[in-house]
Amino acid sequence: MPPLPHPDVPDLISLTDLLMDASMAETVLQTLRWPKGRPTCPHCGGRQCYRLTCLRSGGVRFKCAACRKQYSPRRNTVMERSNVPTGRWLVALALATGTPVAGLPARIERHTGVSYKTAWSMVQRLKASPQDPLLLAMHRAVERGRIDFITTERGFPRPVRRPSGPQATLAQMATT
Ligand SMILES: [Zn+2]
Repeated sequence: MPPLPHPDVPDLISLTDLLMDASMAETVLQTLRWPKGRPTCPHCGGRQCYRLTCLRSGGVRFKCAACRKQYSPRRNTVMERSNVPTGRWLVALALATGTPVAGLPARIERHTGVSYKTAWSMVQRLKASPQDPLLLAMHRAVERGRIDFITTERGFPRPVRRPSGPQATLAQMATT
């Protein structure tokens, strides 16, 4: 008998959630970046950290308890040093999953609302990093048709309830 799904875990993340809800996008980003549910310091590999919220951007950063350096979930990914909001990047990653590069900038432009020029530069980053951890994690999530949230004793990352109603999902988008 297959295990029952956890009631708090959404089977699919909707496009609208990612684009409109910045905290949802941050949660998905952290879940994809650290599938075991615990941030890892890119400087020293430390697993103990403090969670910081940037008041200006709303983005989340972590401060390593061992080396005291700060880092973002975007560090060492295609999103590093990009001004494109996290939700739009996540949708672009879903669109890039298992689909040909031809026409991808136009699809990213259409689905996320970024300019064609921005979409094109995002695709260049993706082409340059086929082994990007976020791209690989998104690929696995789309194949499964869901994103697996893990709740730890520290409450990170938190599962987020999906609003009801018909919405484009990542799994659907990957095939459109
Ligand atoms: Zn560290």
